[in-house]
Amino acid sequence: PDPHLARDVAASLRAIPDFPEPGVLFKDFTPLLLDVDLRNRVSTDVVRRYDGAADLVIGIEARGFILGSVIADRLGAGFVPVRKEGKLPSQTHSVSYSLEYGSATVEVHTDAIQAGQRVLIVDDVLATGGTAAAAVELVRRCGGEVVAVEVVLELGFLRGRDKLAGTRVNALLTD
Ligand code: AMP
Repeated sequence: PDPHLARDVAASLRAIPDFPEPGVLFKDFTPLLLDVDLRNRVSTDVVRRYDGAADLVIGIEARGFILGSVIADRLGAGFVPVRKEGKLPSQTHSVSYSLEYGSATVEVHTDAIQAGQRVLIVDDVLATGGTAAAAVELVRRCGGEVVAVEVVLELGFLRGRDKLAGTRVNALLTD
Protein backbone atom coordinates (compact mmCIF):
# COMPACT_ATOMS: atom_id res chain seq x y z
CA PRO A 1 0.00 0.00 0.00
CA ASP A 2 1.12 3.54 -0.76
CA PRO A 3 -0.92 5.82 1.52
CA HIS A 4 0.37 9.10 0.10
CA LEU A 5 0.04 8.21 -3.56
CA ALA A 6 -3.20 10.14 -4.16
CA ARG A 7 -1.82 13.20 -2.39
CA ASP A 8 1.43 13.12 -4.36
CA VAL A 9 -0.32 12.53 -7.69
CA ALA A 10 -2.68 15.43 -6.90
CA ALA A 11 0.32 17.67 -6.22
CA SER A 12 1.92 16.67 -9.52
CA LEU A 13 -1.08 17.45 -11.76
CA ARG A 14 -1.06 20.91 -13.33
CA ALA A 15 -4.37 22.64 -14.03
CA ILE A 16 -4.47 24.80 -17.16
CA PRO A 17 -7.57 27.00 -17.50
CA ASP A 18 -9.29 27.38 -20.88
CA PHE A 19 -7.32 24.66 -22.68
CA PRO A 20 -7.92 23.44 -25.36
CA GLU A 21 -10.96 25.72 -25.39
CA PRO A 22 -12.65 28.28 -23.12
CA GLY A 23 -14.35 26.79 -20.08
CA VAL A 24 -12.21 23.62 -19.87
CA LEU A 25 -9.84 23.21 -16.92
CA PHE A 26 -7.24 20.91 -18.46
CA LYS A 27 -5.44 18.54 -16.07
CA ASP A 28 -1.92 18.11 -17.36
CA PHE A 29 -0.16 14.98 -16.14
CA THR A 30 3.16 15.51 -17.94
CA PRO A 31 4.85 16.51 -14.61
CA LEU A 32 3.96 13.01 -13.32
CA LEU A 33 5.69 11.46 -16.33
CA LEU A 34 8.83 13.48 -15.62
CA ASP A 35 9.03 12.23 -12.04
CA VAL A 36 10.58 8.74 -12.21
CA ASP A 37 9.78 7.83 -8.60
CA LEU A 38 6.16 8.97 -8.74
CA ARG A 39 5.61 7.31 -12.12
CA ASN A 40 6.93 4.05 -10.69
CA ARG A 41 4.66 4.34 -7.65
CA VAL A 42 1.67 4.85 -9.96
CA SER A 43 2.46 1.77 -12.02
CA THR A 44 3.24 -0.29 -8.91
CA ASP A 45 -0.16 0.65 -7.51
CA VAL A 46 -1.97 -0.29 -10.73
CA VAL A 47 -0.03 -3.53 -11.14
CA ARG A 48 -0.90 -4.58 -7.60
CA ARG A 49 -4.60 -4.43 -8.53
CA TYR A 50 -4.37 -6.43 -11.78
CA ASP A 51 -1.34 -8.71 -11.43
CA GLY A 52 -2.12 -11.93 -13.32
CA ALA A 53 -5.61 -10.63 -14.20
CA ALA A 54 -5.00 -9.01 -17.60
CA ASP A 55 -3.74 -10.46 -20.88
CA LEU A 56 -3.76 -7.10 -22.65
CA VAL A 57 -3.66 -3.41 -21.82
CA ILE A 58 -5.46 -0.86 -23.98
CA GLY A 59 -4.07 2.66 -24.01
CA ILE A 60 -6.40 5.34 -25.32
CA GLU A 61 -4.81 7.87 -27.68
CA ALA A 62 -2.73 9.75 -26.88
CA ARG A 63 -1.89 10.08 -23.20
CA GLY A 64 -3.23 6.60 -22.46
CA PHE A 65 -0.49 5.23 -24.72
CA ILE A 66 2.19 6.43 -22.34
CA LEU A 67 0.85 5.10 -19.06
CA GLY A 68 -0.72 2.10 -20.75
CA SER A 69 2.56 0.88 -22.19
CA VAL A 70 4.40 1.32 -18.89
CA ILE A 71 1.68 -0.69 -17.15
CA ALA A 72 1.55 -3.35 -19.88
CA ASP A 73 5.27 -3.82 -19.47
CA ARG A 74 5.00 -4.21 -15.70
CA LEU A 75 2.05 -6.64 -16.04
CA GLY A 76 3.74 -8.69 -18.74
CA ALA A 77 0.70 -7.99 -20.95
CA GLY A 78 0.42 -7.09 -24.62
CA PHE A 79 -0.32 -3.48 -25.50
CA VAL A 80 -3.23 -2.47 -27.75
CA PRO A 81 -3.67 1.09 -29.03
CA VAL A 82 -7.19 2.50 -29.31
CA ARG A 83 -6.93 5.38 -31.74
CA LYS A 84 -8.98 8.15 -33.24
CA GLU A 85 -10.62 7.48 -36.58
CA GLY A 86 -8.37 6.88 -39.58
CA LYS A 87 -5.06 6.36 -37.75
CA LEU A 88 -4.84 2.57 -37.55
CA PRO A 89 -3.56 1.05 -40.80
CA SER A 90 -5.15 -2.42 -40.81
CA GLN A 91 -8.77 -3.57 -40.53
CA THR A 92 -10.61 -1.97 -37.58
CA HIS A 93 -13.71 -2.04 -35.45
CA SER A 94 -15.09 1.45 -35.04
CA VAL A 95 -17.32 3.01 -32.34
CA SER A 96 -18.75 6.54 -32.45
CA TYR A 97 -20.07 8.49 -29.48
CA SER A 98 -21.49 11.95 -29.01
CA LEU A 99 -19.64 14.90 -27.54
CA GLU A 100 -21.10 18.19 -26.34
CA TYR A 101 -20.68 19.47 -29.89
CA GLY A 102 -20.59 16.79 -32.58
CA SER A 103 -19.19 13.29 -32.23
CA ALA A 104 -15.99 11.30 -32.04
CA THR A 105 -14.93 7.89 -33.29
CA VAL A 106 -12.35 5.49 -31.87
CA GLU A 107 -10.98 2.34 -33.45
CA VAL A 108 -9.07 -0.84 -32.68
CA HIS A 109 -7.49 -3.41 -34.98
CA THR A 110 -9.90 -6.32 -35.37
CA ASP A 111 -7.12 -8.85 -34.77
CA ALA A 112 -5.58 -7.14 -31.72
CA ILE A 113 -7.83 -8.83 -29.14
CA GLN A 114 -8.75 -12.53 -29.26
CA ALA A 115 -12.05 -13.88 -27.93
CA GLY A 116 -11.86 -14.41 -24.17
CA GLN A 117 -8.79 -12.27 -23.57
CA ARG A 118 -8.88 -10.13 -20.44
CA VAL A 119 -8.28 -6.45 -21.17
CA LEU A 120 -7.39 -3.56 -18.87
CA ILE A 121 -8.23 -0.11 -20.29
CA VAL A 122 -5.94 2.78 -19.26
CA ASP A 123 -6.24 6.55 -19.72
CA ASP A 124 -5.12 9.70 -17.92
CA VAL A 125 -8.49 11.34 -17.24
CA LEU A 126 -12.07 10.05 -17.04
CA ALA A 127 -14.28 13.03 -17.90
CA THR A 128 -17.73 12.39 -19.41
CA GLY A 129 -16.85 8.72 -19.85
CA GLY A 130 -17.72 8.68 -23.55
CA THR A 131 -14.25 7.66 -24.66
CA ALA A 132 -13.86 4.91 -22.07
CA ALA A 133 -17.35 3.55 -22.82
CA ALA A 134 -16.45 3.42 -26.53
CA ALA A 135 -13.24 1.52 -25.68
CA VAL A 136 -15.29 -0.97 -23.62
CA GLU A 137 -17.56 -1.47 -26.64
CA LEU A 138 -14.54 -2.06 -28.90
CA VAL A 139 -13.29 -4.81 -26.57
CA ARG A 140 -16.72 -6.45 -26.65
CA ARG A 141 -16.83 -6.30 -30.46
CA CYS A 142 -13.61 -8.31 -30.47
CA GLY A 143 -15.06 -10.82 -28.00
CA GLY A 144 -12.72 -9.73 -25.21
CA GLU A 145 -13.52 -9.26 -21.55
CA VAL A 146 -12.94 -5.89 -19.83
CA VAL A 147 -11.11 -6.29 -16.52
CA ALA A 148 -11.43 -2.61 -15.55
CA VAL A 149 -11.02 0.97 -16.65
CA GLU A 150 -8.08 2.50 -14.80
CA VAL A 151 -7.41 6.27 -14.81
CA VAL A 152 -5.17 8.66 -12.96
CA LEU A 153 -7.90 11.25 -12.43
CA GLU A 154 -11.69 11.00 -12.44
CA LEU A 155 -13.69 14.21 -12.81
CA GLY A 156 -16.49 12.96 -10.57
CA PHE A 157 -18.88 15.85 -11.27
CA LEU A 158 -19.10 14.77 -14.93
CA ARG A 159 -20.49 11.38 -13.85
CA GLY A 160 -18.47 9.39 -16.37
CA ARG A 161 -19.06 6.25 -14.28
CA ASP A 162 -22.72 6.34 -15.22
CA LYS A 163 -21.75 5.48 -18.80
CA LEU A 164 -19.68 2.55 -17.52
CA ALA A 165 -22.32 0.67 -15.55
CA GLY A 166 -21.25 -2.95 -15.08
CA THR A 167 -17.57 -2.12 -15.62
CA ARG A 168 -15.07 -1.84 -12.78
CA VAL A 169 -13.67 1.71 -12.74
CA ASN A 170 -10.71 2.76 -10.63
CA ALA A 171 -9.21 6.23 -10.29
CA LEU A 172 -6.04 7.04 -8.35
CA LEU A 173 -7.64 10.37 -7.59
CA THR A 174 -11.13 11.93 -7.86
CA ASP A 175 -11.87 15.65 -8.27
P1 AMP B 1 -14.37 11.82 -21.93
O1 AMP B 1 -14.68 11.01 -23.15
O2 AMP B 1 -15.24 13.04 -21.79
O3 AMP B 1 -14.33 10.99 -20.65
O4 AMP B 1 -12.94 12.44 -22.16
C1 AMP B 1 -11.88 11.67 -21.96
C2 AMP B 1 -10.71 12.04 -22.82
O5 AMP B 1 -10.49 13.44 -22.91
C3 AMP B 1 -9.53 11.45 -22.14
O6 AMP B 1 -8.76 10.79 -23.13
C4 AMP B 1 -8.82 12.61 -21.51
O7 AMP B 1 -7.45 12.50 -21.76
C5 AMP B 1 -9.38 13.86 -22.16
N1 AMP B 1 -9.87 14.88 -21.19
C6 AMP B 1 -11.15 15.23 -20.98
N2 AMP B 1 -11.26 16.21 -20.10
C7 AMP B 1 -10.00 16.48 -19.69
C8 AMP B 1 -9.42 17.43 -18.75
N3 AMP B 1 -10.17 18.28 -18.04
N4 AMP B 1 -8.08 17.41 -18.60
C9 AMP B 1 -7.32 16.56 -19.32
N5 AMP B 1 -7.79 15.67 -20.20
C10 AMP B 1 -9.13 15.63 -20.40
